[in-house]
Amino acid sequence: MSHKRLRGCLRSMLLCVIATGLSGVFAQPWSTRPASIVVFAPHPDDEVIGCAGIIMQALARGARVKVVAMTSGDGFPAAAAGVAHKAVDQVGPDDFFALSRFRQIQSRSALGILGGKADDLIVLGYPDGDLGSLYDSTDDKVIRQQFTKKNETYASIQKDYHTSVHGKPAAYQRSSVLGDLVELLTSLQPTEIYVTDESDGHIDHRAAFWFVRDAAKQVGYKGAFYTYLVHGLPAWPFPTGVTPNLPFESRKVDGELAPRGLPWPPPRRVPLSREQAQRKLKSIQAHNIPVVGMPEHQGEMESFVKSEEVFWTPLASSR
Ligand SMILES: [Zn+2]
Repeated sequence: MSHKRLRGCLRSMLLCVIATGLSGVFAQPWSTRPASIVVFAPHPDDEVIGCAGIIMQALARGARVKVVAMTSGDGFPAAAAGVAHKAVDQVGPDDFFALSRFRQIQSRSALGILGGKADDLIVLGYPDGDLGSLYDSTDDKVIRQQFTKKNETYASIQKDYHTSVHGKPAAYQRSSVLGDLVELLTSLQPTEIYVTDESDGHIDHRAAFWFVRDAAKQVGYKGAFYTYLVHGLPAWPFPTGVTPNLPFESRKVDGELAPRGLPWPPPRRVPLSREQAQRKLKSIQAHNIPVVGMPEHQGEMESFVKSEEVFWTPLASSR
């Protein structure tokens, strides 16, 4: 670094210190509130695929971070088979419960890799694969998950959110999901929300967006609202593979620009240092599952290790 640049840096640091001091004097109380970040993950692993960098950077600067797993990711027969060392057509409810336990342990240890605590994970325990039908159903209809046969929230390593707060689980109903989310937003008072994007190819990811958006509207949320993309269509991400030195790219696939339905460049790009990208890789590796018949699964997750994370702001124009 040259002397001239060093002087420039020192001057901007001084201005920053003055500005920070002034903001402490003149700013309203809510603007000096420390950042509180909530990352909503439809399944355990989505939080690190989309937001590992956001999580570790926020924790490093002393912000409060909570990861909310909306399901336990237990509706995935090929993964249950891998964990149970069984054939896919041999797995039963106990194997799906074992998968749920396995994936919660993975989320807790991934959070540890990012500098968080296991307690920063909140598990809602809604049915994997059924968030879309829950969102589309009437408020009081109870859904039974086809693999676990459960019809109410549960968690394995820790209590599910509803049980921990109300002493009993919540039925798998549209109104329960929305009720839990409204309560959470009210108690956590986030300044930044992250959730999967509405253009995602996985119905649970789209429904997670709809539910969190509706809950945010219900509580009159005024903070930042960002979305991240996991199952982008028709293919995502680019470039493929672990490329910690390269940014995400938009590419043409069969004449169509990917990712579908989203502006490019994305409105927010958050750079990751090389060290942060390596930690992101480790946190994704903490989610490794021997998925039967899908050897490409882990590699696809690791392809999200880039020199940045990218986010969209779909609600910015409507608010
Ligand atoms: Zn997912």
